[in-house]
Parts: sequence; C-alpha cells; structure tokens
Amino acid sequence: MSDFKFETKTFYDALNQNELIGSKCQTCEYVAIPQRYICPACHSEKMERLVFSGKATLAAYTVIYIPPTEMVNAGYDAKHPYCTGIVTLEEGPRMSAQIVGLDLSQPQNIKIGTPLKMTIIERGPEGTSKKVLAFEPA
Ligand SMILES: [Zn+2]
Repeated sequence: MSDFKFETKTFYDALNQNELIGSKCQTCEYVAIPQRYICPACHSEKMERLVFSGKATLAAYTVIYIPPTEMVNAGYDAKHPYCTGIVTLEEGPRMSAQIVGLDLSQPQNIKIGTPLKMTIIERGPEGTSKKVLAFEPA
C-alpha cells in the first residue's frame, strides 16, 4: 500500500489545493470519486490515487428557487436561484455539484452536454464561508 489515505478529509484537503481526486483500480481500472479503499467493481484493494482533469460535461441539472437553509445563508433565494447538476467527469464517473456561470434567467436554454471545468467557489456568509467544488462553462 502507498501512503495514500482513503479518508473524507483527504478528499477535501486535496480540494483546498484545487485538486479533484479519486481512485483508480489497478486491477480493473474502475474509477471512483471520492477515492475508495476497496474497488466497488471487483473488490480489489490495489487502488491508486487519481487526480481528475476537472473537465466534465453537464449530464442533468435543476435550478433551485426554494433553497435549503445552508444555501439561504449563502445568499440564494427565489430571486437569486442557483443551479445544481450532475456532471460526467472526463474520466468517467458522475458527481453532483453546483454549476455556476450559466444564465439562469432562461433555464430552458441550458444544454445537456455543455462542456464544463471545475472551479472552487467560496460559499456561505462572510467570515464563515467555505471552499466548495463547483463547475462552470469551459
Ligand atoms: Zn476493480
């Protein structure tokens, strides 16, 4: 085994360094995000660290007008909606994340398959904001 740690903290530590990481199975090449200790496909423990390119395409999305409390605290509401989506990473796996930089006044014009790239945004009230992963048009 390498010294690669398969903990949630490892994933967020990498994100703070602008790195999106996961794991790749050395036996069957299954790619997982966040990183996994055991391959979900073949149960191998030969997992290696993978740094994603950050390139993705939009697979599904929804525009949220009535946000949960955390997002209300971050400044979103019916007049300031946000977009959350499922993206397909260049390396294969899908994940959900906030999508920024889209014109939400015409959500019907948002296209599935739009090329995206990862970005790190600060979300939350000033002083207590945290870095979160988001995607924006490439
Ligand atoms: Zn595997």
